[in-house]
Amino acid sequence: MCGIFGIADHAEAADLAYLGLFALQHRGQESAGIVTSHEGGLLSHAGMGLVAEVFNRQALACLPGRTAVGHVRYSTTGASHIKNAQPLTFNCSHGPVAIAHNGNLTNALEVRGRLERQGAIFQSSTDSEAIVHLLARSSGSIEEVLVEALKTLEGSYCLLLLTPGKLIAARDPHGFRPLVLGRLNGSYVVASETTALNLVKAETVREIEPGEVVVISAGTVRSLKPFKTPEPARCVFEHVYFARPDSKVFGRNVQSVRRELGRALAREMAGVEADMVVPVPDSGVPAALGFSDVSGIPFEMALVRSHYVSRTFIRPTQELREVAAQLKLAPVPEALSGRRIVLVDDSIVRGTTSRKITRSLRDAGAKEIHMAISSPPITAPCYYGIDTPRAGELIANRRSLSEIKKYLDVDSIHYLSREAMLAAAGGTGFCSACFTGRYPTPTGDYEKASRTGG
Ligand code: SF4
Repeated sequence: MCGIFGIADHAEAADLAYLGLFALQHRGQESAGIVTSHEGGLLSHAGMGLVAEVFNRQALACLPGRTAVGHVRYSTTGASHIKNAQPLTFNCSHGPVAIAHNGNLTNALEVRGRLERQGAIFQSSTDSEAIVHLLARSSGSIEEVLVEALKTLEGSYCLLLLTPGKLIAARDPHGFRPLVLGRLNGSYVVASETTALNLVKAETVREIEPGEVVVISAGTVRSLKPFKTPEPARCVFEHVYFARPDSKVFGRNVQSVRRELGRALAREMAGVEADMVVPVPDSGVPAALGFSDVSGIPFEMALVRSHYVSRTFIRPTQELREVAAQLKLAPVPEALSGRRIVLVDDSIVRGTTSRKITRSLRDAGAKEIHMAISSPPITAPCYYGIDTPRAGELIANRRSLSEIKKYLDVDSIHYLSREAMLAAAGGTGFCSACFTGRYPTPTGDYEKASRTGG
C-alpha cells in the first residue's frame, strides 16, 4: 500500500506535499519522496524511512516550484530499497515526467517481460516502472499516451503524473484504492485520503471516479473517461482496517463505518455474556465502541498501545513483525483480572499477533475471552496492493473455526458476516476477494506465482 499527494499551482507546493505525506504516513513507512516542477524541469528528493526522517528544512528548500507530487511507500512488489522509492522520475520524448503509484498491477510481470524483449532496461523492481516504459514508447500528448498505457494494465492503480506543465491523476476502472480531488483557494490538490486534504486546509471537491483521468493544467481541471464500462470494486479493507478513521473513503467516513461494523457484530453475537468490551487498539476501537453501543456491555481500554512502534501489519519481514508485536500492546492487569471480556479486532491475518494478545490477556488474569472480529475470515491473498501473505500463511485458509479458537486459546470466536460488512461499508461495488477468493480482475502471473509459492 502507498499514499500519494499532489498539488498544482501553489507557492508552497513542496511544504504542503510534505504535510500531506505526513497525513498519509499510515499508508506506507518504508520510503518517502517529493518531486516538484520548476523552470521547465523536475526536482526530486526521496529516501528510505518515515517522512520526518527523509525530509528536513534544507531538503524542502531544495524543492522550489509551484506544483508537486509526493509518495509514501511500503512494498508489495519490489524490495524495500531506495531505487524503488517513489515518485520515479525519468526523461523521455515527452520531456521530464515523474510518477507516483498506489496500487498493484496484476499483469506487471507480463508487461515487463514484453517491454524487456523489446529492449527496455528497467532500473527498479517495482511494477510502477512498467507504466513509465509504456509512456515512453508512445507519441501524443502525455494524457493521450497515459490513457493508451492504462488500457494495457490490469490490477489496481491510483497514479499521479507530473510534467513541467501538468499534474495528472488517474484511477483504475475498478477504483480499488481511494483518490480524492480537493481545492485550496486557487490550487488543486489530489490525495489518497481526505485526511491529507483536511490537514492542508483544502476543501474536498469530490472522489476521482473509477476509470477517470483528471488533467490539471494552467488552473483548469479536465476530466477524461477513457474506459467505457468502469466496474467499481472498491477495497472494502480500506474501511475495515487500512484508511485513517478521520478520512472519508468511497463517500463514507471510516470511523462511522467501523463503528457500524461493531454494531453489526454485536447483533450477530447477541447473547454473549461479558463484563467488558476491549478493543485491540487502534483500529479495533471504533468497532468495539459500536459493539458496546448495541450490547450494552461497557467499553474498556484494557489494552494499551505504544505509539512508538509502527503498525506490525506492514512491516516487510516476519522477523520484524514479531518483534514489533511484542512491543506494541500491553494489557492493564487491574482492569482484566477475573473479568470476562469481548475482545474486538478488525481482522486476523496470520493469527500470530492475535495469539500473543490473547496470551497476554490471560497472563493478566482475564477469565474468559470472546473474540469478535469486525470482518469475515481472510482466506485469500490480496493482489491489489495490501500486503497480505500467501494463502498458506493465512490462518483462516488453513484452519477451521474451531482450530482457530483452540490456537488462540479463546472461549469463543465470531467473525462478522460478509453481508453485514458490505452493508456497513455501503452495499455494492466492493472488492472482497480476500474473504471470498473471487477476484474482480484477472490476476495473471501474480496469482500463479503466489499459488506456486513463487
Ligand atoms: S482482495 Fe481484499 S484487501 Fe485486496 S483489494 Fe480486495 S478487499 Fe481489498
